[in-house]
Amino acid sequence: MIPLTTLRDDVLSCRKCELSSREDQPVPGCGPAKARVFLLGERPSRDEMMLGRPFEERAGLVLKKLLRMAGLKHEDCYASYLVKCEGETGKGLPHCKAWLWEELRLVSPRVVVTLGAAATRLLLNLKSSARLEDVAGTFVEAPYLPGTLLAPWHSPVTMLSRGKAFSDRTVEFFTKVRVACESC
Ligand code: SF4
Repeated sequence: MIPLTTLRDDVLSCRKCELSSREDQPVPGCGPAKARVFLLGERPSRDEMMLGRPFEERAGLVLKKLLRMAGLKHEDCYASYLVKCEGETGKGLPHCKAWLWEELRLVSPRVVVTLGAAATRLLLNLKSSARLEDVAGTFVEAPYLPGTLLAPWHSPVTMLSRGKAFSDRTVEFFTKVRVACESC
């Protein structure tokens, strides 16, 4: 099994698809190698490509704040994206998902929180017509990752744009994620 640092270097030099950029490198996942919580978003923004880290924009800051309110530190979570370059998710995903499977295998988290519809559909193997609302807040065993739970929730952009009631629901959900990690 290759170390996470090697995988990170491989992602940084990836030019496998048309989303690769001359100016910026892909944004690999980051966080502790044996994190219990794996946060999975859809793809980096332009600014995150420049900064080289996931969840660095306003919506990401809201995500981090709500995690903290639930007793989870984002520094203790592994954070990554389905597609590691800015652009159309559908164009990058067929090439990029191999990096994600490798990250999941290496980190082997207790809970993968899929943030948004695209990440949820891929990890839960749902049809493209499946609605996030129907599965958000549930916890299901990942058949391909023994001992790991998949926990779908909404994207950081949704967290940013909805009101206090939604933030409260998000904190409640993240609290369940924390408890699921502590209980085994
Ligand atoms: S989107 Fe993924 S596969 Fe395409 S260049 Fe970026 S890192 Fe490589």
